[in-house]
Amino acid sequence: MPTIFAENNPTILTLFAIFALASTIALVALTMELKRQERKITTTLTKTVLLCPSCKYTKTRKYQEGDYIGKELDENCPRCSTKLIIDLIYEEEITPKKRQKRPTHFSQKAL
Ligand SMILES: [Zn+2]
Repeated sequence: MPTIFAENNPTILTLFAIFALASTIALVALTMELKRQERKITTTLTKTVLLCPSCKYTKTRKYQEGDYIGKELDENCPRCSTKLIIDLIYEEEITPKKRQKRPTHFSQKAL
């Protein structure tokens, strides 16, 4: 079985190893660059979680100026009419996926 990767041909083996290594490095660098760019266009949306202290009803809404954890709101619980308090404020990442979603959709249909 004639092959260029034979033991008696170390030059090609070395070249192949260098090529493989270089390709891997290039691929890793490209992936990191793409991820960095993806992060750039990622925006965050601040959300506020409202909690009813008596029946543990929770509701999430957009963060409003002046919101802080433990604040009592004028809004009443739809279940027991107790005043809601702010339980949690967190940031949600919003990644625009329009460009990514479409091909995924088509490939799923094709399968
Ligand atoms: Zn309640």
